[in-house]
Amino acid sequence: MATTRSASPTERARDLRELIEDANYRYYVVDDPAISDQEYDRLFQELLRLEEDHPELATPDSPTQRVGAAASSDFPPYPHAVAMLSLGNAFDEDGLRAFDARVTKLAGKAAAYVCELKIDGLAVSVRYEGGRLVSAGTRGDGMVGEDVTPNIRTIRTVPMNLRAKPPAKLDVRGEVYLAKSAFERLNATREARGEPAFANPRNAASGGLRQKDPRLTAERRLAFFAYASGAFEGAKVQPQTQLELLTYLREAGFPVNENARRCGSLEAVLAYCRRWEDERESLDYEIDGVVIKVDDLALQAKLGYAGREPRWAIAYKFRAREARTKLLDIGINVSRSGKLNPYAILEPVALGGVTVERATLHNLDDIRRKDIRIGDTVVVHRAGDVIPYVVGPALELRPKNARIFAMPKKCPVCGSAIDQPPDDVFSYCTNVACPAQVTERIRHYCSRGAMDIEGVGDVLADQLVAADLAHDVADLYELAVEKLAALPRMGEKSAQNVVDNIAASKRRGLARLLSGLNIRFVGGQNAALLAGAFGSIDAIAAASQDALSAIPGIGPQIAESVAFFFDRPQNLKVIERLKKHGVDTTAPKRKMAATGPLAGKTFVLTGTLPKLTREEASELIAGAGGKVAGSVSKKTDYVVAGEEAGSKLVKAKDLGVAVVDEAELRKLLES
Ligand code: NAD
Repeated sequence: MATTRSASPTERARDLRELIEDANYRYYVVDDPAISDQEYDRLFQELLRLEEDHPELATPDSPTQRVGAAASSDFPPYPHAVAMLSLGNAFDEDGLRAFDARVTKLAGKAAAYVCELKIDGLAVSVRYEGGRLVSAGTRGDGMVGEDVTPNIRTIRTVPMNLRAKPPAKLDVRGEVYLAKSAFERLNATREARGEPAFANPRNAASGGLRQKDPRLTAERRLAFFAYASGAFEGAKVQPQTQLELLTYLREAGFPVNENARRCGSLEAVLAYCRRWEDERESLDYEIDGVVIKVDDLALQAKLGYAGREPRWAIAYKFRAREARTKLLDIGINVSRSGKLNPYAILEPVALGGVTVERATLHNLDDIRRKDIRIGDTVVVHRAGDVIPYVVGPALELRPKNARIFAMPKKCPVCGSAIDQPPDDVFSYCTNVACPAQVTERIRHYCSRGAMDIEGVGDVLADQLVAADLAHDVADLYELAVEKLAALPRMGEKSAQNVVDNIAASKRRGLARLLSGLNIRFVGGQNAALLAGAFGSIDAIAAASQDALSAIPGIGPQIAESVAFFFDRPQNLKVIERLKKHGVDTTAPKRKMAATGPLAGKTFVLTGTLPKLTREEASELIAGAGGKVAGSVSKKTDYVVAGEEAGSKLVKAKDLGVAVVDEAELRKLLES
C-alpha cells in the first residue's frame, strides 16, 4: 500500500521516491494515474519534509528537485529555450500567508498579485517566429519536452498566425485542456463503441495531445488557455506586468481565461481563492486550484527561482473532492413514497473537511452499470453541499470475494412485496403503512419548510412509529404528554414542549400544510400557488385536474398528482381529522391577477432571502400576476437571489437575465 511506513528515514525516502517516480510515469507518460492527485501531493509533501529534516537525504535526482517526467521517446525531443518549471503548492490559507510574507520580505515591500484559475490540463509551449506558428512542445522535464507540433495545429483556438504586430520570436505558454461537456461527449462515444471511458478530462486531454496520429488528437476537441510567455524577442512594446501580458496574449489572438484578476492585497487573494473553491462546479472546465503570481514582471525576475519553483508564484490547491475507501455494505433506505434507495456503507474516510461514512448509490441500474460490488475499494465524490456519491470501483483493487449486490425481494423494513414498474429504475415498497414510509412522512410534515414542529426530528419520528403512537400525521395532534414522556430520553418537560409545538402548528396555514402532506411534486413553491389560488383545502380537493392546471405555474403533471392525492379516501380521512383538531386548512385567497404589476413576467427564486420565505415570495409574485418557475432559461425575466444563491445565479449571469434582491423585488411589486 502506498502509505506503508518504512523503518528509517533513509528507507522511507527511498520508498517515497519510488512511489512518486512510478506515479509520475503513469501520470505524465502513460496518462493513466493509479493514485489520486491528493494522494500524490501527500507523498510529495512527506518527501519534501523528510529532505528538509535530513538534508543528507536530498539527492539531485530526487523527484522534489525535478519537474514532471522525462519526455517519452515516441516523439522527437523539444528543447525549451526558457525552462518550463513547476509551481510550489499551498494547501490552506496559512500556506498563502507564508508565501506572501516571503515575497514581501524579499521584495522589501508589499506586492500586488494576479490570481488565475489553475486549469487542470497539461502545459505546452508554442513557438511563433515572425508571427507564424512554427513548433510546439509539452513541458516534459522542464528542459526538454515532446515535439507535438502537428497535434497542436489541430486545436482550433491556437492561432496559426498572430494578430497585430508580431514580435520576432515568442513562446506562448498555456494549458491544453478538455471542456467538461466535450469530455462527457467523448466518453459517451467511447462507451457506445465499447471502448473504456476516460477517468477525467485531464487524462483525456493529455492522452489526446500525445497521439501519434494528429487526426486522433483532432477528434478530442481540445481547447487552450494562454497564460505566460517563454522566449520573447523583438517586440516593440513588451508587457510590464502579468495582467498586461494576459491582455497582450488576448490581443495576439489567444483565448485567455476571463476570470484572471489583479489583487492588491493578500485578503483579496484569499477571497478570490475562497470564491472559486465554492464556484468551481459552475465552470465548463476542471480547475484544481488558483495560481497566484506577482504582477510586476520586473519584480518576478528579481525574485527568481528556488530549484524547480518560482519564488514569485504559488499554486493554491483546492481541497479534495474524491477519495478512495472500502465499500463495506449496501443498505436500503425506504423513502416517504416507498422508493427503495440503495446507499453505500463505507469505511469512514476524510473528504473535503468532513468524515464520510455513507454515500448515495442512486439506483440498481447505476450499481450494475458501474459494476460496483460489496468489498470493492470505491472512489467517493463530494463537491460543495452535494450529497457524497460513489463514482465507481477501483477495479485493480477488487478482492476475490467481492459480492454482487441484489435488490431485496421484500421491503427490508416491513417485509411487504416490492413493486418494480417496468419503465422505472426504482423499486417500491407497496405497503403505505410501512413504518419506514410513515416515519419519513411524519418527519417531512414536521420539517422546517412544512409545519415547522420543533422537536420532532429523525429520532422522535422513529420512536413515535416504533411505539405505535403515530400511524399518520393526524395522530400527532392526539399525542398525550404522559405517553410521550414515557419514551426513552424524553422527560415530562420535553414532552410538554413537543405537544405545545404541535399545537402551535395548527396555525401555519394552508400553504405549509399542503407542502407537508407528501403530495408528489408539491413542495413549498407549488403549495403556495395552490393555496393562494383556491383559498381552502376543500376547494383544492373538489377541483378538477383542468381547474388545477389552469393555475399559472401548475403544469399538467402536478395537477394530475394533486388530483390523484385527493381521490384517495385514506388521504381525505386524514384531512378530516386534521380539521377536527383545528388545523387551519385555509389561506387568504389571492385574486387571479392576470393584470398585476408583474403580469407576464417569469421569476426564479434562488438562495435565502433576508425576510421572505420562498413560499411568501412566490405568493407575492403570483398575487401580482407574475409566474414563478423552477429553473432559469432565456425566458426568465428576473432571478431573485438571496444569501448562498447557487448555480441558478451563475446561469442567470451567463444568460444575461436580470438579478434582483428582496428589496428590488418589493419595488417591482409596488410599481
Ligand atoms: P502543479 O500542477 O502543481 O503546477 C504547475 C502547473 O500548473 C503548470 O505546469 C501548468 O500546467 C498548470 N497551470 C494551470 N493553470 C495555470 C496558470 N494559470 N498559470 C500557470 N500554470 C498553470 O505542478 P506540476 O509539477 O505540473 O504537477 C504536479 C501535480 O500534478 C501534483 O500536485 C498532482 O496534482 C499532479 N500529479 C498527479 C499524479 C498522480 O499520480 N495522480 C502524478 C504526478 C502529478
